[in-house]
Amino acid sequence: MIENIKWLGHAGFKIKGEKTIYIDPFKIKETEPADIIIITHEHFDHLSPEDINKVQAGKTIVVTTPDCLIKVSGNIKAINPGTVLNVDGIQIEAVPAYNTNKQFHPRANGWVGVIVTVNGKRIYHAGDTDNIPEMAYLKNIDIALLPVSGTYVMTAEEAADAANKIMPKVAVPMHYGSIVGTKADAEKFKKLCKCKVEILG
Ligand code: ZN
Ligand code: ZN
Repeated sequence: MIENIKWLGHAGFKIKGEKTIYIDPFKIKETEPADIIIITHEHFDHLSPEDINKVQAGKTIVVTTPDCLIKVSGNIKAINPGTVLNVDGIQIEAVPAYNTNKQFHPRANGWVGVIVTVNGKRIYHAGDTDNIPEMAYLKNIDIALLPVSGTYVMTAEEAADAANKIMPKVAVPMHYGSIVGTKADAEKFKKLCKCKVEILG
């Protein structure tokens, strides 16, 4: 299943299953049209209209939080933490994403992570978040995409604690190598995790 997931740098991923799904595309080179684009929140490194334009087609459904709606057009579905949608046959569950020890992502903003079910596998993209209590209730996660850069999100240590709580089949570090964080953060995360970790290149 991990082979169906391509890291596009930073928090951006392309998931190829029954549909072609992009999450938070940022500075991407991809041009393959999207069936679904998911945007977790309005920060420029997640909501990039320029990158959305590279893969948005007439049939593309954009799934995003209400604060992003002003910058996207087309076929849009709004999500908030707790929303469960079936989009084009793909289940998308929005879960909370927020900071607990910094101010960049207030809980009140209603920004999200998502659990996307592709080919029967539950893929969790955490969005920009700290290690929040809600993560303990995420069950049966096959692949967890977790931010590790620190500053705006979890540090590598905090992300490993989160992974050890979620215990996915595979954890994948993200949100490094572009704006903040380096591969050293990903390596440190891998060392501290009790679950399997794949560092995508
Ligand atoms: Zn952010
Ligand atoms: Zn970010």
